[in-house]
Amino acid sequence: MRLSQMFFLTLREDPAEAEIPSHKLLLRAGYIRRIGSGIYAYLPLMWRVLQKVSQIVREEMNATGAQECLLPQLQPAELWRESGRWDTYTKAEGIMFALQDRQERELGLGPTHEEVITAIARDSIRSYRQLPVHLYQLQTKFRDEIRPRFGLMRGREFIMKDGYSFHADEDSFKQTYQDMHRAYTNMLRRCGLKFRAVEADSGAIGGSGSQEFMVLADAGEDEVLYTDDGKYAANVEKAVSLPVDAEPSKFTSYEKKETPGTETIEKLCKFLKCSPTQVVKNVLYQAAYDSGTTALVLVSIRGEQAVNEVKLLNELTKLAPQYGAKTVLALQVLDEEAQQKWAKNPLPLGYIAPDLSDKYIRSSKQVQSKFVRLADRTVVELKNFVTGSNESGYHVVGANWGEQFPLPELVVDVRKATAGDRAIHDPNQTLQSARGIEIGHIFQLGAIYSKAMGATYTNEQGEEIPLVMGCYGVGVSRLAQAAVEQSYDKDGIVWPVAIAPYQAIVTIPNVADPQQVEVAEKLYNSLNQAGIETLLDDRNERAGVKFKDADLIGIPYRIVTGRSLSSGKVEVVERATHKSQELAIDEVTSILKESIEQNKK
Ligand code: ATP
Ligand code: MG
Repeated sequence: MRLSQMFFLTLREDPAEAEIPSHKLLLRAGYIRRIGSGIYAYLPLMWRVLQKVSQIVREEMNATGAQECLLPQLQPAELWRESGRWDTYTKAEGIMFALQDRQERELGLGPTHEEVITAIARDSIRSYRQLPVHLYQLQTKFRDEIRPRFGLMRGREFIMKDGYSFHADEDSFKQTYQDMHRAYTNMLRRCGLKFRAVEADSGAIGGSGSQEFMVLADAGEDEVLYTDDGKYAANVEKAVSLPVDAEPSKFTSYEKKETPGTETIEKLCKFLKCSPTQVVKNVLYQAAYDSGTTALVLVSIRGEQAVNEVKLLNELTKLAPQYGAKTVLALQVLDEEAQQKWAKNPLPLGYIAPDLSDKYIRSSKQVQSKFVRLADRTVVELKNFVTGSNESGYHVVGANWGEQFPLPELVVDVRKATAGDRAIHDPNQTLQSARGIEIGHIFQLGAIYSKAMGATYTNEQGEEIPLVMGCYGVGVSRLAQAAVEQSYDKDGIVWPVAIAPYQAIVTIPNVADPQQVEVAEKLYNSLNQAGIETLLDDRNERAGVKFKDADLIGIPYRIVTGRSLSSGKVEVVERATHKSQELAIDEVTSILKESIEQNKK
């Protein structure tokens, strides 16, 4: 492609709308344009990158025996009602765009495709002989994200590869899950990314276990905790660890103490001169279930620990059946507004005890009359602890479970693991923290969708059994931007060779010089013929402008038909290192070809 004829526009200044380097650079270098919140146009250079990434994804998927298809983006609500996810995905914090057609039938714009694929499996898989099956697609997904941001990183319309596999049994599924692990590892490696596979929370997709593939970058929205021995890595949402040991309590007898102005643990510990590991902290949440009921939740956890809200949400989801519900739509710390709505009297915030009376609750049809009381494991062994008294300005010390307070029946792990904690698999290892961009996610779904939607097959013994299922996603557009986030410098983008929109650019410093033009044209043709995707900067611009643009858009090799022509040579500059060498005109194509092949490995 000739730049003189190309749709191409670079910006000098950083666009105000962008916060992180990759987003700024993609806008400045003319790869993307913002059309609306979380909505972007992929301009020609970007589209080439996305196709490169897609091709790598395809090759790795096909190598595992998976087959490509294309599923509808418009999905009937009935399918989502069958799986029980319509409300979760369309109400409260649900992220599905829902609409009505002219016959007033409800539809959703596909955020993911478990329902559609399970319906297909239900209709077409009858016998174990047809299994396993693995279908995947590359498609635009729609999600009404609560906080779309960072360009393609969190869009409301984005490209995903999603695959779904169906199996007769766990063993067959495990084989595919392993194949996917390998395929994802290959994809990310081939795209030139530094990444880590981590244990993950399965979220609204569900299932018994999952792993995320995290591209490591400071701008990542996720936190990864890992150990240096390479044996443990998990998303902080899922991570477990050993808490520090509690210090023995300095209090020996039960007593109520005036503790004015100590509504935070820090102030309290300073006032009482005690360790936060001797304190039972009680945190109030409200959980809105999809049956329309709200439960107020009191979590007792050790003073220095924080609640992991993802773990808490999972625990509360388990309680859903008891409220005639399937799931929790929203979970939040009780705020002023909520308090006014549900509390009969002002709550003793900052001084709450584990036995806060249910009488505080102004119960109604929408509000459960009793607190859900949960104890995090960190509080179970505490003796002579400090906690609230349910009276503002007072705490109790020297308290014990089974004496002053009953230990809540539900003892769970809702504690947030943090960097510096000891690892469970080896207490000599401490957890380290890194930021990650979630690029891929592989899920063990088991039979949740096939059971809900009646997708069964007949096994060798003639019994009808629900299909075992897995699903596997890759954020293709997010991956492309993540590559930039990992690879740029002060001059612009430095694309990994495998996914660069073009591999080479021939720059003519002065288009008025016929010899420069002639050699450039010749090289441009010979490079393209050799399969090296090459741009020709034949614009009537100053050389400096051209060099700047080539650096900004990040093309791996720049060939300059400049001064060295007199000695039969051209200058070849490597974008990543800025290393420049003079090569004989006739050798350029073969040397570059080899170098590119090396780089792609
Ligand atoms: P996140 O936690 O970042 O919202 P997710 O868990 O919702 O991701 P999945 O449902 O597993 O994501 O989707 C598969 C992949 O699609 C993700 O690993 C990610 O790479 C990509 N993806 C998800 N949401 C977006 C988005 N809003 N914009 C771009 N890519 C996305
Ligand atoms: Mg999401």
